[in-house]
Amino acid sequence: MSKIRFDALTESHKRTPITIEEKGKRSELFAKNVFNDEKMLQYLSREAYKKVKDAIFSGKKIDRKIADQVAEGMKAWALSMGATHYTHWFQPLTGATAEKHDAFFDLLPDGRAMEKFGGSQLVQQEPDASSFPSGGIRNTFEARGYTAWDPTSPAFIYKTTLCIPTIFVAYTGEALDNKAPLLRALHAVDEAATAVAQYFDKNVRKVYATLGWEQEYFLLDKALAKSRPDLLMTGRTLVGNAAAKDQQLDDHYFGVIHSRVLSFMSDLEKQCTQLGIPVKTRHNEVAPNQFELAPVYEEANLSVDHNLLLMDLMEEIGDKHGFVVLFHEKPFAGLNGSGKHNNWSLATDTGVNLLSPGSTPMKNLQFLTFFVNTIKAVDTYEELLRSSIASAGNDHRLGANEAPPAILSIFVGKQLASVLDELEGVSQGKLSPEEKTELKLNVVGKIPEILLDNTDRNRTSPFAFTGNKFEMRGVGSQMNCAKPMTVLNTIVAKQLTDFKKEVDALIDKKNLKKDEAVFNVLREYIKTSKRIRFDGDGYSVDWEKEAKKRKLSNNKNTPDALRVLATKEVVKLFGDMGVMSEVELNAHREVELGAYVFHIQIEGRVLGEMVNNYVVPAVVKYQNQLLQNVQGFKEVYGAGHKKLVGPQLDILQKMTRHLDEVKKQTDAMIEARKKANALTDITKKAEAYCNEVRPFFESIRYHVDRLERLVADEHWPFTKYRELLFVK
Ligand code: ADP
Ligand code: MG
Repeated sequence: MSKIRFDALTESHKRTPITIEEKGKRSELFAKNVFNDEKMLQYLSREAYKKVKDAIFSGKKIDRKIADQVAEGMKAWALSMGATHYTHWFQPLTGATAEKHDAFFDLLPDGRAMEKFGGSQLVQQEPDASSFPSGGIRNTFEARGYTAWDPTSPAFIYKTTLCIPTIFVAYTGEALDNKAPLLRALHAVDEAATAVAQYFDKNVRKVYATLGWEQEYFLLDKALAKSRPDLLMTGRTLVGNAAAKDQQLDDHYFGVIHSRVLSFMSDLEKQCTQLGIPVKTRHNEVAPNQFELAPVYEEANLSVDHNLLLMDLMEEIGDKHGFVVLFHEKPFAGLNGSGKHNNWSLATDTGVNLLSPGSTPMKNLQFLTFFVNTIKAVDTYEELLRSSIASAGNDHRLGANEAPPAILSIFVGKQLASVLDELEGVSQGKLSPEEKTELKLNVVGKIPEILLDNTDRNRTSPFAFTGNKFEMRGVGSQMNCAKPMTVLNTIVAKQLTDFKKEVDALIDKKNLKKDEAVFNVLREYIKTSKRIRFDGDGYSVDWEKEAKKRKLSNNKNTPDALRVLATKEVVKLFGDMGVMSEVELNAHREVELGAYVFHIQIEGRVLGEMVNNYVVPAVVKYQNQLLQNVQGFKEVYGAGHKKLVGPQLDILQKMTRHLDEVKKQTDAMIEARKKANALTDITKKAEAYCNEVRPFFESIRYHVDRLERLVADEHWPFTKYRELLFVK
């Protein structure tokens, strides 16, 4: 057996769970390391506290004097917690988080040492931005960018560092990160939704988007995972013959959590709790060694930060427990991949979930307004929403052999579908008193507070209404949720803005009452957005045909999916909503395409190396063994040996055939890569990688996996699926 595989197995067998003590209640640990409201009250003057709260509520700027006071309070708290450093914590377009630590420690001119941290350090920093992707926004001669404090996401202490959530922008002001566009989209949806919510309740002053993600992941033994070049370099297996048993017995899903995994989870949850991440649910997922973690939902910007922080924590704590955490969307062929459902809703500052049906007809009309507008927004911008979840990793799920499909559609359930059908029949213009009563009592009035479909949900739908929120299911497990959340909130903001204009026009020009105007506009939306509603099996071939008839997009790979970002409509939408300028949008698209190219390129290189430096030598070694054996027979039995070495010759022949294919295809793949690399246009390059390079991966893999079946186990160089997935 290859030494690395053998050593890894030996090491993995020796591991035992680390004991994690659970002392005291989780609620007592909660947000211990966060500079939240409670700490602000304690460490800030009344004036500073009020100014920060105002800034959080209204997005107003915090002046220098107050920033100095806040910094002073934050420093006092951080030092009392044992922090020695601070950092601006940001989300460059790499998809990961970034930080650069500075010590509080400083020297005064007279040589004395002290801890320093002022308003200017809190508010703005200039990390060297030249090595972060910028999609051409930054020329090398103007490489500077800066990070700026986001007071809506509280600072926290991780280990001994005070982390300050920030946005990251170029000196010219363009966003170089995922947070700045998200904050702008959240601002847009706040403005638009508040205006509409005020039709129903004048007291509403702010609307928050809420997000509850569900993080799926795999845990593999560290030694085993690191023994494979593909897992180490790409986060997924590029080859690997299926284990005899995987998920067919359904014996993993919701099963008893293995003790080593449970220790990891407890450790992780404790740290999350102290950092204010409200983790709640943990369970085994469908595939062996696959798990899920979900928190209580929060305001979307905070929730995104918490998801990123969680992923960082998971890697670190996983390592401590002897695990590698796989966030890749498809680490194993033939097994379920991982996603990150994004549960989304809108909530008012008065505490109302705008997507939750209520107990009165008025509340239900409000619910229907936001419900139908969301449907309409997704219908209008389905292709754009699809683009927000495009990535090399997610291509293995969307539109490939796994749920959910690359076609966006919305599941609303039978009950709400029948309500929408009835509303379609509302009269044009003014409504008679009878019709109004009928609508209020028998249509709107009948929406139950708890929807039955909440339990009877359609698991194949990429965008499902689940009783009091929409669940976006196509998000990839390693993605930054900021991307889909930016698009979803932008399109809903746009839709609600249009809705308000239309309703106001009917009230002003046609003299309709408010509720009549709302019914009239909703009726048209229901009629014109029907194609996006689909309650059937989203995985079926029939749906693909039907969706085509309905002119819904079906972009199965990243280069196709991203094309929509260059269209006039999308540029205008982001511009009108103040979310991204054309320059920013182009830059973001280029960065996405670039990342796609790099991912496929790295996979191609690793696969080439695995074939040439591992598979070929292993096969040759086994061939030699067999040939020697045949030679031995010949020496002993002479001409009669042929009858005796049938199996050996058969195996030799099969191996030679597969090896021949593997070699030919790998050489061809390398050629295709060379051609793709010569292209300078990033769109064309991504297309070449997608259509000319990537297809070789599958065919090479097919033959390598056949060889794995033939070659003696002791010669096989890669840790096998059986070992990766079942050694606990
Ligand atoms: P499940 O769908 O797993 O049966 P729930 O419906 O309770 O369970 O919640 C699933 C996820 O949806 C959780 O992560 C939860 O935080 C989130 N969620 C619940 N309500 C909302 C909401 N109003 N806005 C956003 N996310 C929500
Ligand atoms: Mg799930």
